Amino acid sequence: MAYDVLIVGGGISGLSLAFYLYQRGVRNILLLEKASRFGGKLHTVIEKGYIVETGPNGFLDNKPYTLQLAEALNITSSLYPSSSQAAKRFILKNGKLIEIPTSPLAFFKSPILSLKAKLSILKEPFIPAAELSDETVASFVYRRLCKEFLDYLIDPMVAGIYAGRADQLSIKAAFPAIWQLEKRYGGLIKGMIHLMKNRKRSGPAGPGGTLTSFTKGVQELIDALCAYLEDKIELRKATDVKEINKSGKSWEIHTEKETYKAKALVLSTPAYEASRLLSKYKELSNLLSKIPYGPIAVVALAFKEGSLARTPDGFGFLVPSVEKRKILGCLWDSCVFPNRAPEGKLLMRVMLCGTRQPEVCHLTEEELFQTAIDEIDAIMGVKQPPEATWVFKHPRGIPQYTLGHTERVEAIFKMGKELGGLFFHSNAYMGVGLNDCIGYAIERSQEVKEFLQET
Ligand SMILES: Cc1cc2nc3c(=O)[nH]c(=O)nc-3n(C[C@H](O)[C@H](O)[C@H](O)COP(=O)(O)OP(=O)(O)OC[C@H]3O[C@@H](n4cnc5c(N)ncnc54)[C@H](O)[C@@H]3O)c2cc1C
Repeated sequence: MAYDVLIVGGGISGLSLAFYLYQRGVRNILLLEKASRFGGKLHTVIEKGYIVETGPNGFLDNKPYTLQLAEALNITSSLYPSSSQAAKRFILKNGKLIEIPTSPLAFFKSPILSLKAKLSILKEPFIPAAELSDETVASFVYRRLCKEFLDYLIDPMVAGIYAGRADQLSIKAAFPAIWQLEKRYGGLIKGMIHLMKNRKRSGPAGPGGTLTSFTKGVQELIDALCAYLEDKIELRKATDVKEINKSGKSWEIHTEKETYKAKALVLSTPAYEASRLLSKYKELSNLLSKIPYGPIAVVALAFKEGSLARTPDGFGFLVPSVEKRKILGCLWDSCVFPNRAPEGKLLMRVMLCGTRQPEVCHLTEEELFQTAIDEIDAIMGVKQPPEATWVFKHPRGIPQYTLGHTERVEAIFKMGKELGGLFFHSNAYMGVGLNDCIGYAIERSQEVKEFLQET
C-alpha cells in the first residue's frame, strides 16, 4: 500500500499535522498509532461525576493555535476558560503557601522573597548582556537576578512546565522568549518595558493568557480531530511501527503484519522512539537519543468539601526544590474548572517525580497515593480521606530541552531533509505546550506539502 504521507504517532502533534495537511489539499494520508486510543498524553477520564485529566488540563489563550483549531473543528461552544480564581497561584515557602504577586507593588510587599532578592530586580537592567551561545536556566537567572529568585520563582516554574531542573534545561530552548529579552533588548526589565509599550500600541493581550480547556476535558479536542479525520484519511490505532527503511525514493514502514510505502514520512512519536525506528541511520538515531525525558506521576484526589483545613482557592501551588518535599506541586482542578467535580466536592491533582526525583516514579500506585496524601496533609491539612483517587504514571512524560537542544534539533531536521522526505513533529523538538504542538503542525504541514510538490 502506497501513500503520499505516512504519520507515525497519533498524539496531538500527529493528529493536528494530519488535519493541516488535509486542509492544504494533501490526500492519501495514513496515520498509525501504537496505543488502543488516539491522543497520546491527552486523555480525560470521566468517573463518579469527576472529570479527571491524566496529563494536560488545558492551553493558554495567549497564542492563537489551539483556539483556531477548535474553531476549524467547530467546537468553540465547548471551550471552557478557567475561573477568575485561577489567577491566584501559590508557592510553598517554609512549609506555607504564599500567593505569587501579580503586580510590582504586590511583589515588593510579598514575603515570597527577601528584600535583598527583590532589590536584585533594580540592578538587573545594569547587568550587561552575555555573549553566550547557550546557558542553563539556573545560570541565566543567577547571572541576571540572584539565587533566591531562582530557588523560589524559577525552579518551581521549571518543574511546573517541564517536570525538569533549572540546572539542566537550556534557557534558549526551554524559554526562548526570556532568552530573546536579553539578546534583543539587553535585559529582562528593558525587554519587558519594550514589550509592554508595544502591547499598549497594539491593544491588550495578557502576558500569561487564560488557561482554557473544553467542557468535558481536553479529550474533546482529540475526539473532534478524530471525527473530522476518520472519513478523510486512514487512521489506524493499535498499530505499532516496528521498523523503517528507505527504499529508492520512498519510505517503507513495517508493522507486525503489514508494510506500507510513503513518499513523505513524519515521525510524531517521542524522540527516543524515533531514535529506535531510525537505528539504521546511526548519526541521526544518536542525535535523537540525546533528547532525554523526565518522568511524571499524577495522583488525582477527590474530596468532599470541608475535608481540608486549607480550602483550595486558586490555581494550585508549586514546590521549590529547596523546600525538600516529595511532590512537585498540586493543581486545584475544581477551582480552575468548576465542573471537574460534582456539587459539594473538590478535585485536585498532585504532581510527583520529575527529573528532580526520578526514583519516585518507581513507587507502586499505592505508594504514590500515600506519598501524595501525606504531602497534602502536611501542606493543606487533610481532615477526612479522599472519597476517590486515580494514579497516572508517565515514565517518560516530558522531553527535556537540555543544553545544545536547539542545535541538536536543527541537525535532526537537516538530516531528515537530506535523507529525502523525512520529517519530525512532536513535543520533542520545538515546544511542549499544546499550542506549540498545534502551531508547528501548521508550519510542518507546509514543508511536507512543498516536498510533495517538488517530487
Ligand atoms: C502530566 C502532564 C501534564 C501536562 N500539562 C500540560 C498542560 O497543562 N498544558 C500543555 O499545553 N501541555 C501540557 N503537557 C504537555 C503536553 O501534554 C504534551 O507536550 C503533548 O500532549 C505531546 O503531544 P505529542 O503528540 O507531541 O506526543 P505524545 O502525546 O507523546 O504522542 C506520541 C504518540 O506516538 C505514539 N507512538 C509512539 N511510538 C509509536 C510507534 N512505534 N508506532 C506508532 N505510534 C507510536 C504514542 O503511542 C503516542 O500516542 C503535559 C504533559 C504531561 C505528561
